[in-house]
Amino acid sequence: MHQHYPHLFAPLDLGFTTLPNRILMGSMHTGLEEHKTLDRLADYFAARARGGVGLMVTGGVAPNRQGWLAPFGAKLSTGAEARKHRVVPETVHDAGGKIALQILHAGRYGMHPMLVAPSPIRTRISPFRPWEMSPRLIRATIRDFSNTATLAREAGYDGVEIMGSEGYLINQFIVPRTNKRTDDWGGPFENRIRFPLEIMRAVREKTGPDFIVIFRISMLDLVEEGSTWEEVVALAKAIEQAGATIINTGIGWHEARIPTIATLVPRGAYAWVTERLRGEVNIPLIATNRINTPEKAEEILAAGQADMVSMARPFLADPDFAQKASEGRADQINTCIACNQACLDHVFAGKEASCLVNPRACREIQYPPLSLLPTQNSQPKTQNRIAVVGAGPAGLSCATELAARGLEVHLYESASEIGGQFNMAKRIPGKEEFCETLRYFGKMIEKTGVHLHLNTRVSAAELLEKGFREVVLATGVAPRTPTIEGIGHPRVLSYTDVLLHGKPVGPRVAIIGAGGIGFDVAMFLTEPTDIPADPLDHYRQEWGIASPYPPISPPTNQPNQSTSQPVNQSTNRGGLMQPVHFPVPRQVWLLQRSKGKVGEHLSKTTGWAHRLTLKNRGVHMWSAVQYHKIDDAGLHLTANGAMQVLEVDNVIICAGQEPQHSLLAPLEQAGVRVHRIGGAKLAAELDAKRAIEEGMLVAAACTSVFLKNCNISGRQISVMEHGLNGAAHFHGFKKSMPASV
Ligand code: FAD
Ligand code: NAP
Ligand code: SF4
Repeated sequence: MHQHYPHLFAPLDLGFTTLPNRILMGSMHTGLEEHKTLDRLADYFAARARGGVGLMVTGGVAPNRQGWLAPFGAKLSTGAEARKHRVVPETVHDAGGKIALQILHAGRYGMHPMLVAPSPIRTRISPFRPWEMSPRLIRATIRDFSNTATLAREAGYDGVEIMGSEGYLINQFIVPRTNKRTDDWGGPFENRIRFPLEIMRAVREKTGPDFIVIFRISMLDLVEEGSTWEEVVALAKAIEQAGATIINTGIGWHEARIPTIATLVPRGAYAWVTERLRGEVNIPLIATNRINTPEKAEEILAAGQADMVSMARPFLADPDFAQKASEGRADQINTCIACNQACLDHVFAGKEASCLVNPRACREIQYPPLSLLPTQNSQPKTQNRIAVVGAGPAGLSCATELAARGLEVHLYESASEIGGQFNMAKRIPGKEEFCETLRYFGKMIEKTGVHLHLNTRVSAAELLEKGFREVVLATGVAPRTPTIEGIGHPRVLSYTDVLLHGKPVGPRVAIIGAGGIGFDVAMFLTEPTDIPADPLDHYRQEWGIASPYPPISPPTNQPNQSTSQPVNQSTNRGGLMQPVHFPVPRQVWLLQRSKGKVGEHLSKTTGWAHRLTLKNRGVHMWSAVQYHKIDDAGLHLTANGAMQVLEVDNVIICAGQEPQHSLLAPLEQAGVRVHRIGGAKLAAELDAKRAIEEGMLVAAACTSVFLKNCNISGRQISVMEHGLNGAAHFHGFKKSMPASV
């Protein structure tokens, strides 16, 4: 029995093969799938295989061109494509792992004019209207699925996952929302599930009994006219009979207006759905969504809610998650904070995925893990003693990276704790995960031997006195003070006054500036007070998620709630119920000068949820505003074409920031080599993603390493790093490829 996580690290016997543990790395599109060769994808998976994950699933690969997510997206339907794929399973196997290929037909979610669907119903996700599939095309598509599975096996994959959830083609056949057909493939439930069952049978028939076939079922559609719970159970039983090895859980369609993986979703929020299916089928079930720590995973398994747990983004954040957990080093895991900023937001913008907390993710060749590099070659450019000023995300990333490369690093922070602005971010309800990044860096400071000097506002003179010849300025930003008459009025507060210093805020508030911080402050100030004690109950009620369990009792004392009657999912398709609008403690106006939608520059994948939350809390979001003055009467402004006075108790300034780099000039004048990173370099469009990445790159630039012949993923690679003007460049050359490629 495993010492730390007995359920998580219990092997899973599938009959013909055994998985070493209960951890599935869930499917995630990275953008590497579309490359001419799949070497980078192979290295990305190999790093995770080395990290001890039990089974991995690739990003979605289409079985034919109509099934593409986007034009020329990943597809596996020919022998040539199978040969191209070989490097992935081979590299993974060499690293000791197992991998399945996900077969995904986008159906009406395709972003191209050839898209097809059971019925020609457009979704707002795609600009194109789908073509209705003829019975002949349906038959051909079933064959295409089994062909892809066969090719996956030939390429060396250990199995496939059939994507039947999230609103993609198979899911579109299953539910009345998108299937209006009147032939054998539509109408009654038995006809609507014919397509997934025939795919499952055909795949099993073609691939044989000793091949892992995971079927991902949409257990909770979270859209109107979705499945009933009884239909989910009936489908799962039929899928088992048709030959599936494992059933994975799918939660929510992409068009659902309920956040299911964002950081505001409580950890393990959907394990109860998988649990509900336990006992109905006899094959292993996988729980998913917002499982990001070994503790939560163990808890789910120990409670008997599932047989395996799926985590996807946590493996971007830390490829060694499983190994660290297994060795009792969970406190060293770089935890996914569910921000989506460098993974899903990138993919939706057509960019390659990476990770905010781990900029090495998906760039395993360009930025090899330090553990794989022969650091004895590492040479500091000037001397081996360096000061990093500021322990915000940029400084933390830089200091720990420098120390890991063997330098003596002194990290100075004027506050009493590390974290910089993350100490404000972590106080926003729904952003508590940000604490994990600070826990991680705290541990890395300890592990790498960074000399941390808290409560030390260091000056240029002190740095010179201590003899530093190389300094990294990570001094961050200070809030901008806009020039508005009356800006010094006592009712004016900055966001730091509110979030850091806990200054009292009245019941009527105007927020000047509707960027990320303005939104966060609005969330903070409107957090309902009279809410269920259990965060999961609160989340479910606030977003209107019904449960096949006994209904949640309606909250009391809620004057402005809409109807709160939970509806039995059996009668209400899709698992939806009327959301509850909890009473909020304040009336808030969120203001911006520019025209257009307030919050339009927020994250693509999570911004809508923030806007919707504030709307439901009655926050007034005004754009094209002109500020005139602030006085005892309140905030004078022009909005909606009219001059008016907002009679508010407080005006909170969230109008962006200015860089802090006053140490730069005196240090440079004294001949010190200075690097600026994060907010100290540029305040515009600063976020933690940029801050952490710059920290890592400048650390590499400071050490100017020439690294030769590293062995990465079984391949000999020459890596050369060199720094130029504070920037670092990494080059990876493949010297020799495995014989099998
Ligand atoms: P900072 O975090 O500003 O850190 C600078 C540090 O330097 C501070 O700790 C300061 O005390 C210290 N310092 C300054 N001068 C000295 C000196 N002379 N001596 C010693 N120490 C000194 N970003 C995201 O990407 N996603 C989010 O969801 C997100 N949410 C946010 C929510 C809020 C409420 C706030 C305020 C910010 C949020 N951010 C978010 C922004 C993110 O926190 C910043 O982009 C990031 O912290 C910038 O990192 P930095 O290290 O450059 O600067
Ligand atoms: P921001 O996003 O640049 O927003 C600043 C806001 O202030 C804008 O609404 C701007 O709108 C307004 N503004 C700018 N200058 C002004 C002036 N002189 N007078 C009045 N209003 C002014 O900056 P932020 O909100 O401070 O956030 C800082 C960074 O943190 C952002 O870059 C963001 O990426 C990051 N962050 C991210 C998240 C997240 O969830 N991803 C959350 C918080 C912060 P108008 O000019 O139209 O008035
Ligand atoms: Fe997790 Fe954010 Fe990294 Fe994505 S970018 S993997 S959500 S920490």
